[in-house]
Amino acid sequence: MEVTLLGTGDTTGTPTPGCDCETCRTARERGVERTRFSVHVRNERTGESLLVDASPDFRVQFLERDVPLPDEVLITHVHFDHLDGLGNLYRLVDDVPVHAADEVDPVTDQSVADAVRERYDYLDVVEVHDRTPFEPFETAGFEVTLVPVEHPPLVCYGLAIEDPETGAKLALTGDTSFGIPEDSRAVLADADLFLADAIVPASLCEYHPMGGRHHDADGTPRTFGTKHMTREGALSLANELGAEETRLVHVAHFYDAEEAFAEPLAVDGERYVL
Ligand SMILES: [Zn+2]
Ligand SMILES: [Zn+2]
Ligand SMILES: [Zn+2]
Repeated sequence: MEVTLLGTGDTTGTPTPGCDCETCRTARERGVERTRFSVHVRNERTGESLLVDASPDFRVQFLERDVPLPDEVLITHVHFDHLDGLGNLYRLVDDVPVHAADEVDPVTDQSVADAVRERYDYLDVVEVHDRTPFEPFETAGFEVTLVPVEHPPLVCYGLAIEDPETGAKLALTGDTSFGIPEDSRAVLADADLFLADAIVPASLCEYHPMGGRHHDADGTPRTFGTKHMTREGALSLANELGAEETRLVHVAHFYDAEEAFAEPLAVDGERYVL
């Protein structure tokens, strides 16, 4: 399993357009980027590729990284930064199965699968497959399991991708607070590579109108506001879940420049072979 981190940023990316903060300036100087979230997973045995989330930066990501176009796509949730790149597949491929959860979101009265189907009904290449959380399905030669996480007010899903032949396992939290249900945590555990939402350091919770949540024993908030984990929360979760290697993703430009590019915060283009 070859995993390429195509997009490791939050919804504005780093550098952020129009921003002259030291972190964005440092990113420009060093030529590093955190575009909107997307992960490319290639099955070396079958030659197939699965794309996790369709970033609005799809075109640039596929021009810059040496990865084949996806044979399959999975969408974790319907926020702009994870979905709006799907239209890029028009005229690039003849058809593309898109996998998404089938549970109805009480807020939108729609499942992720239904929302994708509705928004892309004009695009014949998109063919949506309803997937039930906790029920593994086969795609690109992998076994994939969606699990609910906590990203209010919308439903969102983390996932585990396993190669049934080699036993390699990639787990991703999706966009989530630290309040991931126990049965979901069990599916995300013991991965070779764990990608965890870590939008900002915990110290920034004082600037969020809702503060922080899910404090640890030392009083450090593991959730920023209600929707995302802090760096400390993501690392605490990685430790609990026994990940072999962890990369922090969905990273905002609000980290101080000195810590924004420190380990284990990911940048675009990183590649892992599991
Ligand atoms: Zn900035
Ligand atoms: Zn989101
Ligand atoms: Zn997001």
